Amino acid sequence: MARAVTVIPGDGIGPEVTDATLAVLNAAGAQLEYDTQLAGLTALKELRNPLPKATLDSAERTRLVLKGPLTTPSGSGFRSINVELRKTFDLYANVRPVRTIVPGGRYEDIDLVLIRENTEGLYVGVEHYIGMHGDPRAAAESVMIVTRFGAERIVRYAFEYARTRGRRKVTLAHKANILKYTQGLFLDVAKEVAKGFPDIEWEDRIIDATAMQLVLDPYRFDVLVMENMFGDILSDLMAGLVGGLGFAPAGNIGVDAAMFEAVHGSAPDIAGQGVANPTALLLSACLMLEHIGQAATAERICRALDTVMLEGRARTRDMGGSASTGEFTDALVRALG
Ligand code: NAD
Repeated sequence: MARAVTVIPGDGIGPEVTDATLAVLNAAGAQLEYDTQLAGLTALKELRNPLPKATLDSAERTRLVLKGPLTTPSGSGFRSINVELRKTFDLYANVRPVRTIVPGGRYEDIDLVLIRENTEGLYVGVEHYIGMHGDPRAAAESVMIVTRFGAERIVRYAFEYARTRGRRKVTLAHKANILKYTQGLFLDVAKEVAKGFPDIEWEDRIIDATAMQLVLDPYRFDVLVMENMFGDILSDLMAGLVGGLGFAPAGNIGVDAAMFEAVHGSAPDIAGQGVANPTALLLSACLMLEHIGQAATAERICRALDTVMLEGRARTRDMGGSASTGEFTDALVRALG
């Protein structure tokens, strides 16, 4: 039976990469029933609300969302709808795998998973200006929130993830040397949780040293777990290890809901040109298929992707080729056979 999924094409390149992704999902025979809804800048323009009730109602009903990137204005304007959706459905685990797909890059055979805490840290949005001497914005404060509950469930998720997928090691990246309370609590909780997983190798590292080591020798890592903002930053770094943001998928997982999206944003610099690489959203859709028990279809799509990459004839601009989004998608559909 087809599984209902709320599809949010999103802003910028979102509709282009979403169309491509749905075309491949349909060609691969994914058992899905789409409910397409608006959010972000597009929804603000068309419905005067960046997160319309109809979109929330749909996600409430399906508990499964496939989402294109949404534009978030910097500095002023509405708050991130991505963050809002993650908070609304308590999607506490942001799972971001990176794997070599295009051969001949800086590194071969990269296979890492970053697990990012998705609901706490500095991204809770507890921030304000402090006025002084007639300047209403003389200073600004943001509060980093770490709870024992939040730290424990994300670290436990990382260990369970490693165990169920036969992975060997979990690394906690933190900054407990400077942020002794927030990061210190995270580290102490992680040490306790690690005791329950003696079959998984475990280490903790300072976040800045982790960033350097990821660039110098990524093979020393396997599953990495960290708080919200560190995970946001390092997942882009890790995408760089396998050719860039065009290849980085993400799943936002909660207890009874999940949302899948590319790591990249709405790429306004290339929107509407038909040159965007849809791979990241397609890989996110594959994570979704695995999540809902359609792993065989996800594997078929991954094999088609590998075939197209190895042939090397249809590659989008970010992969050093000249294929349009449509030509790349057609090649994928052909490779599905
Ligand atoms: P971005 O990820 O949109 O783009 C960074 C660079 O990567 C750009 O040069 C872009 O052209 C390129 N790029 C990104 N995706 C690509 C793809 N699929 N194919 C080819 N090239 C690609 O980051 P940005 O420009 O900093 O952000 C743009 C907007 O997206 C901002 O409003 C930001 O808040 C938002 N954003 C949304 C999400 C999300 O919805 N999850 C994530 C990150 C950023």
